Amino acid sequence: MSKLKFYLAGICLILITTNQGFSQSMQNKNDFKVQTEKFADIAVLRYRVEGFDNLSTKQKELLYYLYEAALSGRDIFYDQNYKYNLTIRRAIEAVIAGNVGDHSSADFAKFIEYAKRVWFSNGIHHHYSTAKFFPTCDKAYFASLLTAVPENKLPLQTGQTKDAFISFITKIIYDPTIAPVKTNQAAGVDLVQSSANNFYEGVTQKEVEDYYKGKLDKNNPNDISFGLNSKLVKKDGKIEEQVWKVGGMYSSAIEKVVYWLEKALPVCENDQQRKAFTKLIEYYKTGDLKTFDDYSIEWVKDTRSTVDAINGFIETYDDPLSYKATYESIISFRDSNATKRIEAISNNAQWFEDNSPIQTEHKKKNVKGISAKVITVVVESGASSPATPIGVNLPNANWIRKEHGSKSVNLGNIVHAYNLASSSAMLEEFCSSPEEVKLSKLYGNLSDDLHTDMHEVIGHASGQINQGIGTPRESLKNYASTIEEARADLVALYYIVDQKLVDIGVMPTTAVGKAEYNKYIRNGLLTQLQRVKLGDNVEEAHMRNRQLIAAWAYEHGKKENVIERVVREGKTYFVINDYVKLRSIFGELLSETQRITSEGDFKAAQKLVENYAVKVDKTLHAEVLKRFEKLDIAPYKGFINPLLTPVYENGKIIDVKVSYPDDFMKQMLFYAEHYSLLPSIN
Ligand code: ZN
Repeated sequence: MSKLKFYLAGICLILITTNQGFSQSMQNKNDFKVQTEKFADIAVLRYRVEGFDNLSTKQKELLYYLYEAALSGRDIFYDQNYKYNLTIRRAIEAVIAGNVGDHSSADFAKFIEYAKRVWFSNGIHHHYSTAKFFPTCDKAYFASLLTAVPENKLPLQTGQTKDAFISFITKIIYDPTIAPVKTNQAAGVDLVQSSANNFYEGVTQKEVEDYYKGKLDKNNPNDISFGLNSKLVKKDGKIEEQVWKVGGMYSSAIEKVVYWLEKALPVCENDQQRKAFTKLIEYYKTGDLKTFDDYSIEWVKDTRSTVDAINGFIETYDDPLSYKATYESIISFRDSNATKRIEAISNNAQWFEDNSPIQTEHKKKNVKGISAKVITVVVESGASSPATPIGVNLPNANWIRKEHGSKSVNLGNIVHAYNLASSSAMLEEFCSSPEEVKLSKLYGNLSDDLHTDMHEVIGHASGQINQGIGTPRESLKNYASTIEEARADLVALYYIVDQKLVDIGVMPTTAVGKAEYNKYIRNGLLTQLQRVKLGDNVEEAHMRNRQLIAAWAYEHGKKENVIERVVREGKTYFVINDYVKLRSIFGELLSETQRITSEGDFKAAQKLVENYAVKVDKTLHAEVLKRFEKLDIAPYKGFINPLLTPVYENGKIIDVKVSYPDDFMKQMLFYAEHYSLLPSIN
């Protein structure tokens, strides 16, 4: 609790803004700089919060409290990623705050690059590949910086000497055999013991699986998501759960999240919204997963509010066994114009289900309550920041989705910032013809939006699981995420060339779908390889599903030359010769991934993923990397958050100002100063 710091709202306004490197000229929309810097394989971008000034004072106040709640949980994600992440981050921050080292030296620049990578990944493992990365300055130099910091500024453990601390911390940073991978998905090893994340301690994969299998009631399809909010630990031979709640693990951060959520209650827009937040608070206080389900149901029902919040232990991608969820928060308000597009798709959800190529017994008779909207993001935290999703569909509990529906959102202002930052150089390099470039420039933005909308709104929501099969994560295990993402993508791909989308007014011509097909194949077989190190396999679930679909379609259309592999002047291109046939191939694979999901066919999922999604053709991979090298495009992007500053009068908030910091490091140091709410070791 000694680390707990309070936010001095109102008192240090000017200090806050200068601290964050906010400059007045950046307020001007026309010279708003989207990309602020590049380091390692990362570009740092900014997004604008259009429409914020048009909100009511009460809505702004609500957003401000939710913003503080979001950032208060930030430390949790670091700790979940790896037990020593907070220690390492604080040691780095102490070096910077202590103003030690020669700042003009090349070594110091390398140290700063490592610091930025740690902040960007919320830890020492790459945010996407989950492999550990290393400083490019040497170990002795790193140690010399720490030596120069006063002992009382370093996050020493009780009884630990400064020397012992420095040798310990540099060892875990530099030794490649310590914690090499955050989330290990490789087949044939103990996934729990070979993963560095902090979800389990002293237990084997088998023990974890047996523990949760024992809890599961196969006859109760509405069962809670066992293990979602806890660390599983073996102590004195006994396995126990350490629950993340007030009074439990991560208490000091969760208390602060709750504090801000409670402040939000009186300024809620309506009773339904208040009911949802009240349940969320109760869940954080009790750790009861049944209450989390109750909260999720109330949250799904809240479709009228303008302001919305995702806050909790939500996604399980970082657990190789998909039990444990990472902390994240996305605070937003509705973009009503763009929402019209997504609503048109949502309103026709049943038509899409009825006309889907999946087997009749796998179709939902009533596709229920898919509420979809485009949102304007105000702040992101935890697993959603700085790298962010562009579409979200929640809740994750299958039974709630089936009985109460789900909410789908497209992060409109984030997508817009991505588009502004994307370069046409990549199109010129990897498109097979000037026509392909032209089509992409004409319809690329819209086809991206539509793909995301359909993936979230009708993709994840489609299909049903046979009785007694259990959830995909139980039946398909470590292949569940890839198969689920593939299924959602395939629904989008199947329909994006459909005249229906023209008829309901969301696209002007089916050529939009052709632009999407070109991009999907180009990305799945070529451009996404930019994100993989030569010699490595594809690991991340979304990347796996994209390669799976593209490679499967390429192979299954080979006889009829549906997709042609062309090599010109040593450069490989994939040209689509028959869009109609390609659509039916996507339909076939959609039907198969749905069957796998409905029947829980683990063997088929394994075969599909291992055969198509994981392995990379080394020669082609080397070629792609070489072509990218000269383009100088960062493969990963993430965002600096806007800054909300309340304006007080007589102790009451009378307005909230939004501004746009433009220095990533300064924002990270600002967050460290104001939101370091957990002890270094938890
Ligand atoms: Zn998805």
